[in-house]
Amino acid sequence: MRSWSVPEVPALPGRGPRVHLHDTATGGLVPVGPEAGTATLYVCGITPYDATHLGHANTYVAFDLLGRAWRDAGLDVRYVQNVTDVDDPLLERAAATGVDWRDLAESQVELFRGDMEALSVVPPQRYLGVVEAVDLVAEAVRDLLAAGAAYRVPGTDGGPDGDVYFPVDADAAFGTVGGYDLETMLALSAERGGDPQRPGKRNPLDPLLWRVERPGEPAWEAGELGRGRPGWHIECTAIALEHLGMPIDVQAGGSDLVFPHHEMGAAHAHLLRPRARPFARAYAHSGMVALDGEKMSKSKGNLVLVSKLVAAGVPAAVVRLAIVAHHWRTDWEWTDEVLAQAQARHERWSAAVAAPAGPAAEALLATVRERLADDLDAPGAVAAVDAWVEQARTTAGTDAQAPDLVRRTVSALLGVVLP
Ligand code: ZN
Repeated sequence: MRSWSVPEVPALPGRGPRVHLHDTATGGLVPVGPEAGTATLYVCGITPYDATHLGHANTYVAFDLLGRAWRDAGLDVRYVQNVTDVDDPLLERAAATGVDWRDLAESQVELFRGDMEALSVVPPQRYLGVVEAVDLVAEAVRDLLAAGAAYRVPGTDGGPDGDVYFPVDADAAFGTVGGYDLETMLALSAERGGDPQRPGKRNPLDPLLWRVERPGEPAWEAGELGRGRPGWHIECTAIALEHLGMPIDVQAGGSDLVFPHHEMGAAHAHLLRPRARPFARAYAHSGMVALDGEKMSKSKGNLVLVSKLVAAGVPAAVVRLAIVAHHWRTDWEWTDEVLAQAQARHERWSAAVAAPAGPAAEALLATVRERLADDLDAPGAVAAVDAWVEQARTTAGTDAQAPDLVRRTVSALLGVVLP
């Protein structure tokens, strides 16, 4: 699938330090990526059934900061993202609105591309829809069956026999990504696309790997699996193993993906490639964005859309600055005040880098690098830029190179473009 255009990333003198990131599984700060060579990143993509919103933007900007910090540290970055372009919510929405599910997905992916481009997010090298990866996923499911790490469930409610499930008890490491207790896992499973009540499963938490064809639903030939379509978690595992190998350096997504999605994805991988464990060296989860005190979500309908803000005349760089002013792991709320602050900050920064000279900026570059390498502390980096801008405003700096160095630092590392 086509991704989006690559933003300009200005060159900077020197190199950034090794990046450390908070790992959900261990609960601590860990070095991520190798000391030299290629770092691998998988960020779970959208299910394109409704407008992409600021919560999505927050996630992809967070891991864009990681990619930028890695490249600045001298690493190559191999980045893969999927699109869940066949799944229940998409099919339900398409049926409810009378739109072909393929057209609905394509129109929403196109909006997402526009948002990512506007926000200067560096695109993944592989941007893959499940529709494009069905053979790959089916092969993974057949491999799990052959390894005794999958089983079929009889039909219920008039449905056909043969849906394939994954026995979570087959992975000794199951539960270690999120570290949740059983009660929490059961609740989250029911809330986030699982089917703990389905009869015939060995463990209520067991996730679907392959759903055999139902009338009116899209389905693909898959050999011994029969015609059907992939479950959600196995799709990401199959794509990640094929295009990144294992272990990957960072498996990332919003905090609502910790369980079941990333827990199950890791368990699938552990059974598919037992000798290459773990699936990921670190699991990174970004915070949620709220509006009017509630988490922004499609189902609640309380969405702020990047495309609408931009159409209303808000520069996308201001939206990006509003996002990076919040730490990537915290939950935060989008308010008019947040937007106004970002707007004012963008104006102050733009004025300072437009000056013919300013205070020396080498120390600022070092601080921004050091802040980002420390668990992507973008708010700390923003504060350092604020301090330089304030110094530029109150003292007569004489370094003619400094304003341009600050402009390039902010653009390359924070992804915030200043005019
Ligand atoms: Zn995923």
